[in-house]
Amino acid sequence: HAKAAGRNGVAVFETPMLAAAERQLTLGRDLSAALDKGELSMHLQLQVDHAGQPVGAEMLMRWRRADGKFVPPDVFIPVAETTGMIVPLGLWVLRQACEARLALEAAGHPLQLSINVSPRQFRQPEFVAQVRAAFEDSGVTPHAFVFEVTEGLLVEDFDVITAKMRELAALGIRFSIDDFGTGYSSLGYLKKMPLYELKIDKSFMRDTPHDANGTAIVQTILAMADHLGLRVVAEGIETEAQARFLGENGRPCMQGYLYCRPLPLPDLVARLECGFA
Ligand code: C2E
Ligand code: MG
Ligand code: MG
Ligand code: MG
Repeated sequence: HAKAAGRNGVAVFETPMLAAAERQLTLGRDLSAALDKGELSMHLQLQVDHAGQPVGAEMLMRWRRADGKFVPPDVFIPVAETTGMIVPLGLWVLRQACEARLALEAAGHPLQLSINVSPRQFRQPEFVAQVRAAFEDSGVTPHAFVFEVTEGLLVEDFDVITAKMRELAALGIRFSIDDFGTGYSSLGYLKKMPLYELKIDKSFMRDTPHDANGTAIVQTILAMADHLGLRVVAEGIETEAQARFLGENGRPCMQGYLYCRPLPLPDLVARLECGFA
């Protein structure tokens, strides 16, 4: 409402916007240098089944600047998506995941690894070829991996996206809908896509089981996934009450601070070595 505020209002309105744009620009520049400077790393967060047994882990990117400060993924991933930096970053993550899987196999813990794939990365024409090359070069089986995509990927070019998913599924890769229920896409895609899993967003888990509406949403997702034959991972599990509720309702896999924080690979292996629980 710069106009209503008059001549001076324009300046007041524009300055914070320019400052924000400038911050994004700087962040984008720093991020493209971060990979070369070795400031990026991957953490892994354990996923457990209803009995608390480790079944998999999600790969989560970390950016630690030279001054030791961490930049949260929720801040830098959107910037990487806008600048296109997510394409080389995503490729790097894929190769990190292959290495992590090999290390886990060698340690006797062949966990299934989940990888977040951004829409822009997925939409690259070379994506399938790059994925195939990463698996061939490392010698890891694609069956070891779940690609987590968000509903945002599914709102446009549905047929192109589905065809690509089928190509990757034919290689053995499984697909998960991350943050399920928080996007704007219709439910129709669920039966048309080669899906393996739904991830219940932590925003729904936050209200479960103390809030009736939040709990109803979680129960509905669990029932729907059951009817569709899809596996479920509930994320953001922080309390025993949440875990108990899920144990009595659908028994999905769980991921959250209650079980394990995201950790560097050696720390995760150490946790697994001492029996985890
Ligand atoms: P996401 O894929 O939904 O990942 C789950 C997020 O929930 C992670 O945040 C994880 O640390 C956090 N989390 C796990 N358990 C709990 C819990 O019990 N309580 C709470 N409050 N949070 C929990 P993180 O690591 O900050 O990542 C944020 C988002 O950044 C991810 O959300 C994902 O969308 C994106 N991201 C992270 N790594 C990558 C990556 O390698 N590639 C892409 N494209 N996106 C990534
Ligand atoms: Mg995820
Ligand atoms: Mg999620
Ligand atoms: Mg998320």
